[in-house]
Amino acid sequence: MIELPEALRLADEMRAILVGRTVSRVLPPSRVHKFCWFSGNPSAYDAALSSRRVVGADGFGIYAELLFDGGLSLAVNDGVNLRFSKSGELPENYQLAIVFEDSSCLCFTVQMYGGIILHGSDYENEYYVKSKNAVSPFSDDFPEHFRRVFRESKPKLSAKAFLATEQRFPGIGNGCAQDILLKARLNPKRKLETLTDEDAERLLSALVSVACEMRSQSGRDTEKGLDGMAGGYRTMMCKNSLMTGCPICGGTVTKEAYMGGSVYYCPVCQPLIK
Ligand SMILES: [Zn+2]
Repeated sequence: MIELPEALRLADEMRAILVGRTVSRVLPPSRVHKFCWFSGNPSAYDAALSSRRVVGADGFGIYAELLFDGGLSLAVNDGVNLRFSKSGELPENYQLAIVFEDSSCLCFTVQMYGGIILHGSDYENEYYVKSKNAVSPFSDDFPEHFRRVFRESKPKLSAKAFLATEQRFPGIGNGCAQDILLKARLNPKRKLETLTDEDAERLLSALVSVACEMRSQSGRDTEKGLDGMAGGYRTMMCKNSLMTGCPICGGTVTKEAYMGGSVYYCPVCQPLIK
C-alpha cells in the first residue's frame, strides 16, 4: 500500500519520467474490479486526456497525482500500483492504462481496492482533502502540529491507533507506524495516557526520523516504484521480522491481531506498560 514515502517516490518518478509526454490514448479497465472506483466512467478518460501533456506530479498523504495541461489531475490512492513501460507492454489485467505518443505507457493495477480519480482540482473526497492539506512530517510546523494532535486525542487511544487511524497523520499507515513505534520503543497497544512527556517527544522524533529515512531511500523495500523496483528502505518491523527477529535485540518478534490488522512488536524493546 502507498504510504507517504511511496507517494513521494512515485511523484518524483512521474516528474522525472512522464513530464513532457503527451497522451495518445487511455485504455479503460481490461476487466472490471469490484473494488476499484473512478470518477465517472473510466471509458470517458480517453476523450478527456487524449492529446494532453503531462506537466507535473505530486505526492501527499496516501495519494500520488499526475497533472496534465488544461488543469486536469489524475489521482490514485494507496491501493493502486503504477508501472511504467517504455515499450508499452501491458499485463493481462489492468484497471487503466495511459498510452503516450511514443508508445510508452503507464499502467494502473489494483489488488484489494483502489481509487483512480480524474478531476479538475475539485475532488472533495475526505481522505483526499485531508491528505492534500496534511502538515508534512518534513515541514518545520510538524512538531507543533504533532503535539497539538497528541493533546487533543483521547487518553485511551493506543499508540498504533494514534499514528495510523482517523487521518491524524495522512500517509502514516500501518507500515510506517510499525517502524516508528519500534524506534520510539513503544508498544503498539500502549494507551496515550500512560505516555510521559518524554515518551511523546520520543514518538515525535521517531516519526520524523523514520519518515525522513524512508523518504531519502525511495520508500520501503516492501513497496515498488514505477520501474517495479522495491524501495531502498529496509523495513525493520513487518512479517519478515517473525523469521529474522527484532532488529534491535535479536529477540523473538510477537505478531498479534489488532484493530482489524496485524501488529508486530518486540516484547523486550517495546514492553506493554499499563
Ligand atoms: Zn527487541
